[in-house]
Amino acid sequence: MPVKDCKTKPPAGSRKRQHVTIRFRLRGDRKTCRFLNELAGVNRYLWNAALAKAKEDYTETGQSQTSQFDFYKWYKVHKDTAAPWLREYPVNATRTGLKDLADAYKQFFKKKRGLPRFKKRGKAKKSFTVDVSGGKMFSTNGYVRLKRGMHMKMLRFYRVNRYTNPVPKTARIFEENGNWYMTVVYEVDATLQDADGIGIGVDRNCGQIADSAGRIFYLTDTSGIEKRIQKLQRRLAKKQKGSHSWRRRKKTIARHERKIKNIRRNDLRHVALSLTEISTLVILEDLKTKGMTASAKGTVENPGRNVKQKAGLNRSILGTGWAILEQFLRERGVVIKVPPHYTSQTCSKCSYVNAKNRQKQSEFLCLACGYQANADTNASVNIRASGMASWHELCRTGRGAYVRPVIAERKPATGQRVMKHQKEHGAHGHSCI
Ligand SMILES: [Zn+2]
Repeated sequence: MPVKDCKTKPPAGSRKRQHVTIRFRLRGDRKTCRFLNELAGVNRYLWNAALAKAKEDYTETGQSQTSQFDFYKWYKVHKDTAAPWLREYPVNATRTGLKDLADAYKQFFKKKRGLPRFKKRGKAKKSFTVDVSGGKMFSTNGYVRLKRGMHMKMLRFYRVNRYTNPVPKTARIFEENGNWYMTVVYEVDATLQDADGIGIGVDRNCGQIADSAGRIFYLTDTSGIEKRIQKLQRRLAKKQKGSHSWRRRKKTIARHERKIKNIRRNDLRHVALSLTEISTLVILEDLKTKGMTASAKGTVENPGRNVKQKAGLNRSILGTGWAILEQFLRERGVVIKVPPHYTSQTCSKCSYVNAKNRQKQSEFLCLACGYQANADTNASVNIRASGMASWHELCRTGRGAYVRPVIAERKPATGQRVMKHQKEHGAHGHSCI
C-alpha cells in the first residue's frame, strides 16, 4: 500500500551531493610497509610534541594557541630548528596530523571530549591523515604516492567507478589486524528518494534475522573460528609479552578475528539487500533499551541458547553487527525504530498480549484465537505494525526520504568470453559468466 500524500522537501529525485567512504586495502612491498610504520611514528611524534608545547604554554602563560593555523606555524619553525629530519617526510602525510590535534582541542573546548592525551608508542593505533586536496599524494589510477618512487596499490580501486563525479575530500591511512588500509571520503552525486511505504518489519535475534514477509536469515556459524581464537588466546597468555612468538601469535589471532568480521559483514550486506528488495521502509526494534547482553542471554521468557559460548567474543561481534546492519539499511532505505516491548508476546492477528503465547523458543501460539506461527516471524509482523503507525508522521515532517548515491550503470559484458558463451547457449540477453 503505497502512501500517496507523502511530501518531502526538497522533492524526491532532486540532485544532491553526498559523502561516501570507501576503504581500500593497501598493498606494497616490505620497504613501503616499513615506511608507513615510520610515517605513523612521525605523526605520533608531531602530535606529542605539539601537545607538549601547547601544555607548556598553558602552564606558563595561562593560555595556549591551539588552532590548526597555530600548529602549522609551530610546525614550520620546529622543522627548521629542532627536527630537521622531518624534511625527509612528505608534508601531506605529516603536518596534516596537526589538524587532528586542533580538532581534538576544538572538541575539548566544546566540552564534548576530554583534554587531548599523549600517544604512547606501541599502544596508540597506527593511523594518520593524508591530505588529498593537493592532488600530489593521491593518484586517480589506484595508487597512493607516499614519496618519490614509493607507491602503494589501492586494492579494488574500481569500486570508485560506481559513483558519478567522485571528488576525494579526506583520507586516512591506518593499520588494522596486521594490514594497511586507506579510507577515502568521496563527495559523489546523489539523489533524494522517497521510501516506498510498503514497510517490512525485522526481528533481530541471536544468530538469525526474521522479517515480516516470513523469511528467516541464518547468519553463518562462526563458533569454530571463535573456539580457535580462544585456544590461541590461552596460548598467547603463556608467551612472554613483546617477544617474537608473542607477536606472531597475536598476528594469527588478528587474522582470525578479521575473518569473523568479514563473514559477518558479508552476511549482513546480503540480508540488508534482501530486506530492501521487498521495501525501502525498514522497521527495526530499538535494541538500545535491552542492552548488548540481550543478544546473548535473551529475555526471561525467551532465553537464548548457548549463553556461555556466546557471552564473550560473539557478544561484541553481534553487538556491533546490529549497528552495521542498520548502517547498511540506511544506505538503501528509511529505517524506523520502535520500542521492543511485548513484540514477542503479542498476537499479530488479534493483538492479544500474553507471555504464555510463547511457550517455546521458536513457536508462537495465541491463547485467544489459536493463531500459530514462527515466534520471530510473529514478532516481526508486530514490529512492522508498530512502525507503520508513525509512517505518516515521518512523511509529514519530511523524514520519509533517504539520500542515495547515483550508481553508474554497468556496461554489458563484451569480449571473447561472452561471444563464446553466446555461441554455446544462444544470445539470451544476459551473460552467466
Ligand atoms: Zn490471537
